[in-house]
Amino acid sequence: MEKTTSYPKWDAPYFTGKKIEKIYCFPWCTEKFHPENTIRFQSRANAEQAGYRPCRKCCSTLPIGAWTDKQSELTLVVPKEFSFNENMKYLSKEPNECLFYCKNHRIYRAIPIEAETPVVEIRSDQDNMLHIRFLGTTMPSCKWIRAEVARYVRDWFDLDTDLRPFYDLAKSDALLQRAVTTFSGLRNIGIPDLFEAICWGIIGQQINLPFAYTLKRRLVKAFGRSIECDDETYWIFPSPHDIAALTIEDLKRLQMTGKKCEYLIGVAQLMVEGKITKEQLGNCGDYKKAENMLVKIRGIGPWTANYVLMRCLRMPSAFPIDDVGLHNAIKYLQGTPQKPTKAEIVKLSATWTNWEAYATFYLWRFLY
Ligand SMILES: [Zn+2]
Repeated sequence: MEKTTSYPKWDAPYFTGKKIEKIYCFPWCTEKFHPENTIRFQSRANAEQAGYRPCRKCCSTLPIGAWTDKQSELTLVVPKEFSFNENMKYLSKEPNECLFYCKNHRIYRAIPIEAETPVVEIRSDQDNMLHIRFLGTTMPSCKWIRAEVARYVRDWFDLDTDLRPFYDLAKSDALLQRAVTTFSGLRNIGIPDLFEAICWGIIGQQINLPFAYTLKRRLVKAFGRSIECDDETYWIFPSPHDIAALTIEDLKRLQMTGKKCEYLIGVAQLMVEGKITKEQLGNCGDYKKAENMLVKIRGIGPWTANYVLMRCLRMPSAFPIDDVGLHNAIKYLQGTPQKPTKAEIVKLSATWTNWEAYATFYLWRFLY
């Protein structure tokens, strides 16, 4: 499941890990290494799969060539297959979104990193860069936190994935051909926080999208936290701790069904107990194993599992094949009176191997 990356040449040739501390460093880090406490990793992904965290001194969390730190502003290099415009269109489609907002072709949101909550403005000046500016007094004083902010944005916009093989594949695919021409440069905008991704999947079950956004907003405003910055309020999704301690009655007040309240509290408790983490899912090494782990949890069926693997874990083969929106998009593109059957979708998607998540994300865009 190794993903192709757009910037290997800018990254370190290998990473040095400290076994006891479980941190990984660039080879040039000035930390002291004892040979018996040292392990070498071929890639950042290998180090993180082994449970190692990036070093706060050398900021190994990002390839050095992928970002520039000007303290009050960070710049991220974007691949050629990136259109700020297409991604903005996607992000600004939902007026009821409560975790970020778009204004004047810029995106605003709070990005909590440990004890700090920087608020950022993201823009692009058509220079193949994303610019991340810290607002008010929220600029993190430590470089490693700024690096984590850059990494969050890079992850949010899925800048790591090389879309060229997907575009090549789409050239000869009846459905995807039109999708990639219409939405060229669109990225699978993610939900990097696992708890938020699972909650969003559960909240959205069996209700329409506008009501799902309303429930999310109620949940965030009732149990999340907020930060004031430049006369605006920025909301942060509740943590598993915030939700694990609630009763079903607390959540029912938001007008969620009793079942959904149970599911959300159950997932929060599992996460607080460390029984489900993004690392564990990522470390399964296999998309089917990760799906199996998720569907064992109450409230998570195959649709929600695949949705989470697609939007949070970014597993390229994740495929919410039962998704009504996907069915409607295919029906629209084919101009047929009926929605396709599952067998038909299986046939249509036979050549999408390893790009099912991207295919779904692109096809969804036809619904708007
Ligand atoms: Zn280091």
